[in-house]
Amino acid sequence: MFDTSGNALRLLIVDDNPDDRFSYRRMLGKADDQRFEIFEADSAEAGLAALATHNPQFLLLDFHLPDGNGIEVLRQLRMQHPRLPVVMLTGLDDVNTSVAALHAGADDYQIKGKLDTDSLLRSIRGALQKRALETQLVTERERMELFYRLVEASDDMLLVIQMPEGRVIEANQSAVRQLGRSRESLLDPTLDLLSVFPNAVTVWATLSPAAPARRLDCEAIRADGTRLPIEVSANRVVLGEKLYFVAVCRDATERHEMEAQLRRLVLLDALTGVNNRRAFDERFEQEFLRAARGHGALGLLMVDVDHFKLYNDTYGHQAGDKCLRQVAQALTATLKRPSDFVARYGGEEFAVLLPDADMAGALAAAELLLQRVRELALPHSTSSVGDFVSISIGVAVAKPPVRGELENFMAKADQRLYKAKHAGRNRAVSEE
Ligand code: GH3
Ligand code: MG
Ligand code: MG
Repeated sequence: MFDTSGNALRLLIVDDNPDDRFSYRRMLGKADDQRFEIFEADSAEAGLAALATHNPQFLLLDFHLPDGNGIEVLRQLRMQHPRLPVVMLTGLDDVNTSVAALHAGADDYQIKGKLDTDSLLRSIRGALQKRALETQLVTERERMELFYRLVEASDDMLLVIQMPEGRVIEANQSAVRQLGRSRESLLDPTLDLLSVFPNAVTVWATLSPAAPARRLDCEAIRADGTRLPIEVSANRVVLGEKLYFVAVCRDATERHEMEAQLRRLVLLDALTGVNNRRAFDERFEQEFLRAARGHGALGLLMVDVDHFKLYNDTYGHQAGDKCLRQVAQALTATLKRPSDFVARYGGEEFAVLLPDADMAGALAAAELLLQRVRELALPHSTSSVGDFVSISIGVAVAKPPVRGELENFMAKADQRLYKAKHAGRNRAVSEE
């Protein structure tokens, strides 16, 4: 137990008898596995002062001191040095004194008349060992306490569930708060785990000794019955014979909203707020295949602003941007069916999907769009068409669409748009 690093142990002897002090020094010098740096004091007062100056690691304390007894000294020094190992030396072969010494916080006592080197060193060793164990225990307890605080301070819901019973045995403050359930109700042995975590069994089933941890999205049910989307870090823990499901659950509401927002943003055109080209490509293929499968129809309008380059040249790029926003708005506001789909295809060109529209319906929609844009009455002084901004539309209908002909269908609408331009703009064309 003695320090194996070869460092000297700072030891204070408090004893008023110089012969005794000399005798302890001699005994301590005989320890072949420990060196001592020894300080001496010959009274209670000098002893307490020496404690402060030398900060000893061990104290040999005489019971009888000229200015008080060892017990009083011990009581005083314990306030400042609660863990200093102390061996009390008493001249009396008196059980009561010895018991009092131990009560006052001595680690051991030795009777002066019977003291020999072996018993002194054994006593010192024992006291050091006891203190070291105690320090270790205190450290462990502090660590546990800090760990507990950490768990309680966490914003995540932390739960320990004993398996296979599915019994919650630990739940932190966040779990209590976010689930809207009391700690007692969560720890209640009769609680049906599935009434709080409906996916618990499925999640647990994904864990195995080979893959003891997993992160999954699932749900929790609050006391008021509302559902809370959660991200669960699920862990399978084995301690001895026992099996535990340790779960770290995080409220995923915000993350889900952000992801949904992101998905929306990825599919929206930043300038006009209508669907972008990526969204169009996705939807176009979906609608095309859906109509092909169901032998239905799909209408497609390619819409292009007339003389838009001139518009920019005349009114500036910013006015051009505003014009595009207004046209996009007019297009979406005009189309009434929820399945109708407007997208900015690029530049000043828009594409409109009209599911289930036949040619008559698609043409009617195109005419409405032409009219609505005219009605915006956005001045365009350099247009060859008239005084206001206008659009041209190529109209195509696939009834039913033929698989593999998606590009052809698109090209058809494009050609007809081109034709509308050549025929004088401000019109819809539905034939080659
Ligand atoms: P046409 O009637 O034949 O369609 O003639 P146009 O001038 O409209 O067609 P052209 O393709 O020659 O020019 C399109 C113009 O649209 C050129 C380009 O600067 C402008 N443009 C494309 N995207 C934007 C945009 O986001 N904002 C603005 N302000 N202008 C844009
Ligand atoms: Mg144009
Ligand atoms: Mg164009």
